[in-house]
Formats: sequence, C-alpha cells, structure tokens
Amino acid sequence: MPRIHSQEKEQFKKLFSHEDPDAFEDRFRVLDTFLSTEKHLTCDELCRALSARGEHLTPEFVRETLKLLSHFGFARQSRFDNGEIRYEHHHLGQHHDHMICTKCGKILEFKEDRLEEAQIQVAAAHGFHMLQHRMEIYGICAECNRERRRRMPLTLAKSGERLVIRDINGGSASRLRLMTMGLRQGDRIEVISNNGQGQLAVSVDMKRYAIGRGLAQKIIVEPAAS
Ligand SMILES: [Zn+2]
Ligand SMILES: [Zn+2]
Ligand SMILES: [Zn+2]
Repeated sequence: MPRIHSQEKEQFKKLFSHEDPDAFEDRFRVLDTFLSTEKHLTCDELCRALSARGEHLTPEFVRETLKLLSHFGFARQSRFDNGEIRYEHHHLGQHHDHMICTKCGKILEFKEDRLEEAQIQVAAAHGFHMLQHRMEIYGICAECNRERRRRMPLTLAKSGERLVIRDINGGSASRLRLMTMGLRQGDRIEVISNNGQGQLAVSVDMKRYAIGRGLAQKIIVEPAAS
C-alpha cells in the first residue's frame, strides 16, 4: 500500500521538519527504509537494510529514531516469544494480530472480527473496559508442518506439542531409566517447555517430568493425533 506510506511520510515531515535539519534528514531516511518493507524488523535488521541502501547511521541513532516513531504512532513494537523488540508499521485505524511459528520464526498476520468482538465481550463480562489487546498464537506454520518428519527425537519437540512416545533408543538402560520414571512406549506426552538447552519439562497424565537432553535424544516421538 504505497499510498498510505507516502501519507505517513508527509505526516512525519509536518511533525518533525522544523527540528534540527541534519537529524531530520537522517530520521527521514530511517522512516523511508522502515516503510519500504512490510516485515517485523529488529533494530539490527533495520540497520542492515539501511546499510544495503548506502545509508550508514549508528545503531544508537536508528534505535532512538524507532523509539520516536513508536512514540508518535508511526511504528508499533512487539516482543514475540520474549525475543528482541520488533517494529512494524503502525497505520492509524488498522489492526491485526499475529501467529508466530516457533520452528522457523515466521510471523503471520491475521484479523478475525469474531475474535475481536469476543475479546471485548469477555472483558466486559468481567466489568473490564478493553482499550487494547495483543493476540499472539504460537505454533508451527503450514510449511514447517509439511516438512516435519513425523518421527523425531524428543529434543526437537516444541513447547506445547502433544506427542506419543514411539520408541526408545539406546538399549535397555535408557528404557529402564524411563520406566523407573514412570514413562513407557505409547504414552501421550505434552511438552511444557523445551528451550533448546537443559532439561525438558513434559507432562504425562497431569504429572510433570524433567528429562535430561541426553535421555530426551533417545526418546523417539511423533505428533499425537488430536
Ligand atoms: Zn505499511
Ligand atoms: Zn515455520
Ligand atoms: Zn504485524
């Protein structure tokens, strides 16, 4: 939508062109590059996009400009999955929510009127007057889902996944260790958290288990039919 972006630039000029002219030119370059992509960018990514266009501004300046853009409603900040702050366009009067793929990091945008309405009603039922909300759906995107090998070691599972234990590698020793923990082949497990390091937390039959990565590597799981 190039038209809305030229409107944004005009408004930015109106608000800031009377300020220090050097800084204004540089800030305008940041805005221009920011508006040239529809991605949800980190400050570093925007710095790289600026360099690619031959604009060499310090990360501090870019960061400060992004704060300014957020403050005046040209940019919106999000931290998906507690990651780095990401910035996207803030077009007045427009709203969307996000789905975040925890495998590849893809961010999808969606808008669903029924959800919007339901959130207002739920808030109102609690005597709560909703002013704004963030709705983030975490999961696995269509492409990742297609590419996924069905069987995988538990270490590759993502937080929130529901799985079935299909096999236990590593001979009788690891099988025995699992059995003494109370886990066996065919059990349905849900991953509470897997941060890519340290123990995994899983639940089976409403009980919590901590599984070291070495053992988790030997547990072969596949997605549970929901
Ligand atoms: Zn836009
Ligand atoms: Zn994905
Ligand atoms: Zn977005």
